[in-house]
Amino acid sequence: MMNVRPQRKDFDMYMIPMFSPAPFIPVKGKGSRLFDQEGKDYIDFAGGIAVNALGHANAELVDAMTKQMQNVWHLGNGYTNEPVLSLAKKLVSATFADKVFFCNSGAEANEAALKLARKYALDHYGPQKNEILAFDSAFHGRTLFTVSAGGQPKYSKDFGPLPGAISHVPFNDTAAALAAINDNTCAVIVEPMQGEGGVIPAHKEFLAALRSACDRHNAVLIFDEVQTGVGRTGKLYAYMNYEVIPDVLSTAKALGGGFPIGGILTTDKFAPSLSPGTHGTTYGGNPLAATAANTVLSIVNQREFLEGVNERHNKFFVSLEAINKTASLFKDIRGMGLLIGCELADAYQGRAKELSNISAECGAIVLIAGPNVVRFAPALNIKDEEIEEGLSRFKKAVENFLTKE
Ligand SMILES: *Cc1c(COP(=O)(O)O)cnc(C)c1O
Repeated sequence: MMNVRPQRKDFDMYMIPMFSPAPFIPVKGKGSRLFDQEGKDYIDFAGGIAVNALGHANAELVDAMTKQMQNVWHLGNGYTNEPVLSLAKKLVSATFADKVFFCNSGAEANEAALKLARKYALDHYGPQKNEILAFDSAFHGRTLFTVSAGGQPKYSKDFGPLPGAISHVPFNDTAAALAAINDNTCAVIVEPMQGEGGVIPAHKEFLAALRSACDRHNAVLIFDEVQTGVGRTGKLYAYMNYEVIPDVLSTAKALGGGFPIGGILTTDKFAPSLSPGTHGTTYGGNPLAATAANTVLSIVNQREFLEGVNERHNKFFVSLEAINKTASLFKDIRGMGLLIGCELADAYQGRAKELSNISAECGAIVLIAGPNVVRFAPALNIKDEEIEEGLSRFKKAVENFLTKE
């Protein structure tokens, strides 16, 4: 039989059309470079949407995974395993947490966090304490519970009836949040920096006010660090930049460096509410996923590595500002660490996707965060020459975009 190579058009023929992927298919990666079926190379500033913390085909990850694959892939949670125990211990010693739980994705991590908050409130205060406060433009995942907590009604409105007792106020609006938190609030869920919502850092006073309101009303403060976690903002977790400590933190994306794993971190105060039988998962914390995360954490959670993230941040900022000086395409360039957003000026509203498509044509893959923001979330170990090459391609894309006018 002839071996027919899959093509992009097969996506439209065989896949449920919930995505509309790029016209090319990447087939190989090395560091922050990707190569497509035609051999064209791209600098990868998307990092698999803030996932590939160590780039593509990282030698230490390949090594660790290959070794683990020759031992045990999966056991199920009737047995524990060595990699997951090392991983749990690492996360507990590196953060505020006393206890952790592992699952497979960011949505599942937030699902577990919200279930924990409801259960804790029920156990300690009764069924009336069930209200969840979340924020406009937030993104917490695509399960029904997490998409309802998310602050973009267009993602949830067609799937009702939705889980109840979830309300939203504007992000960074301290007065509105304080007015909404009361004794029936069981949880407040917030991203320390909104990712999908447009790369918008929380104000420090805002997070600090949420912390004290949650303390006053015995509500669980959940930080969704699915995108900001694992070194992305130049600290292991973004809460460390803010010095505001959550009760529960959800983590995923970069944790496995490209292998699916998510989890929640919490303290001994809250952990007992998820006792045997209350929650679970088949794959969560399996030996392969835990091996990936162990390797990522042992590389990322080093002072020099995290300082390197901040140095790369500066390099991006200087170059992006220089590009914008001549182009005046962006009205704001913002972010922390290697999560950077460039918001289009008013004259170019709604055209971030168009610019990202042109950028890919020029050989630099970038993300968007909503219709008006171009987002950079590259590997945390991206090389200087990859940043330079990629940004010079992006500069070309900006010129092409502007000359199309
Ligand atoms: C990506 C993301 C999620 C969802 O993660 P999945 O792995 O896609 O389920 C949740 N919260 C935030 C902040 C994210 O960026």
